[in-house]
Amino acid sequence: MHELSIAQSIVELAEQQARSHKATAIEELELEIGSLAGVELQSLEFALESSVKGTMLNDARIVRHDIKAEGRCGDCETEFPVETLFSPCPKCGSYAVKIIRGKELRIKSIVVK
Ligand SMILES: [Zn+2]
Repeated sequence: MHELSIAQSIVELAEQQARSHKATAIEELELEIGSLAGVELQSLEFALESSVKGTMLNDARIVRHDIKAEGRCGDCETEFPVETLFSPCPKCGSYAVKIIRGKELRIKSIVVK
């Protein structure tokens, strides 16, 4: 399962960070997940629940920020919300659209004990 490996790498990264701060536990983990990141949020949440067991994240509060995807038209520079990777520009109809946000899946911050 795709989401499970993502969850495991989130846990690993967070623990690495915590260790580098000589922490023994993580109190809070903030995640940023773009709407085009390609993850199923419910599966990810479920995967995280099982992945944190017995780790420094065992009792951590996980805060998720969902990032709405936005694109910028390469022809007329219009910025607009996009639902899929292949959305045309609403202003000029061009498909030369660059996704400027919404593909991210990252740890925004962690709070350690
Ligand atoms: Zn355009």
